[in-house]
Amino acid sequence: MAVYLDYAATTPLDEDVLKIMTPYLLQDFGNPSSQHSFGKTAANAIVRARDYLAKILGCLSEELYFTSSGTESDNWALKGVCSALEYKGKHIIVSAIEHPALIESAKEMQKKGFEVTFVNAEKDGTISPEAIKNALREDTIFCAVMHANNETGVINPIEEISAVLKEKGVFFFCDCVQTAGYMRLPTKYVDGLSISAHKFYGPKGVGLLYLKKGSQINRLISGGNQERGLRGGTTNTAGIIGLVAAYVKAVEHMEINNDKIRKLRDAFLNKVLAISGATLMGDKNKMLPGHANIAFEGCTGEQLVMMLDNRKVACSTGAACSSGAVKTSHVIKAMGYDESVAKSSVRFTFGKNTSLREIDSAIFMVTTSVSAAHRIYSSKEKLEELKRNFLKKATGSNDTPKN
Ligand code: PLP
Repeated sequence: MAVYLDYAATTPLDEDVLKIMTPYLLQDFGNPSSQHSFGKTAANAIVRARDYLAKILGCLSEELYFTSSGTESDNWALKGVCSALEYKGKHIIVSAIEHPALIESAKEMQKKGFEVTFVNAEKDGTISPEAIKNALREDTIFCAVMHANNETGVINPIEEISAVLKEKGVFFFCDCVQTAGYMRLPTKYVDGLSISAHKFYGPKGVGLLYLKKGSQINRLISGGNQERGLRGGTTNTAGIIGLVAAYVKAVEHMEINNDKIRKLRDAFLNKVLAISGATLMGDKNKMLPGHANIAFEGCTGEQLVMMLDNRKVACSTGAACSSGAVKTSHVIKAMGYDESVAKSSVRFTFGKNTSLREIDSAIFMVTTSVSAAHRIYSSKEKLEELKRNFLKKATGSNDTPKN
């Protein structure tokens, strides 16, 4: 049996949630925008779901907008709010450890004439309120700092950052994709936040944007009049019902699940951090219970992830790999670590279905994979040395030829 330790990437759909969603895929499948009874049944279900979620989040129903994902919510918040507030100023602050959904959106706004300050993290993985304060300018209109980072799991001091921004009237957006279902969300301290159902045992393809009443935002997706005219596209009834059902269940079982996950994560860390050259990225006391991001000296994260996959342990590097190149984690780099550390980190994330047996098996596989990686690494080094010696003797020169 393969061991899944990538719960921060996605979680399986909870079976109870599937049961609640199913009628909206089979019998009550009507388009909520339709006038007939099929449409009305679906529309009423959405109204009830939105009201219930608003109650749990401590906000108004009209402050909630359903989207297709955390990525869409993040894009919409940054692009939609900044373009609506352009008349006030064109300076944006984004923490350098944000998800690409925000980093890339900010870069797109740069091309449209906005100025962006990317604020680095502290060595413990947090974004400090002082750093945000120092980045503020007269023309700052928007600031994004995530609730907890997806690579390290380190939680940011949102209440303190909010106090700094409130003073200046800057819109504060908080990506809560990793914390929804694991922590109380900071609704009352922020102007906008995002969540995504598939991170807390809900369906994929549905997210949420909370936007404080009175906020200005332009629409990102043009089309029909759905979501009070601000987001076109046929409403994903089953997805929305699934998001709310999954969130309710996650919140109800939050403490029990967090306790269980933390114990398993700590048992894993106890053994894995004993491996020579293994270092935990971020301060463990400031982390979500299910995250462990470890740098393994002398290895690349990508190589380890592949070796572990062969040994049936699923984990990930923080940085997505594209075009076959070894990508460096922008998060670890923004915490002040050098390139080699940023390339050597692996993220293990634990979930409510993780068992002690799986942890034991993963510890064994990680230990053997790291030793194997070290052996490969040192034999490569050895080969290089032999080549250097050979060339020195053959040419009588100390220079290694350039290739
Ligand atoms: N923000 C964070 C912090 C995430 O971890 C993710 C997904 O990994 C996203 C945004 C994007 O969410 P989605 O997968 O729903 O697009």
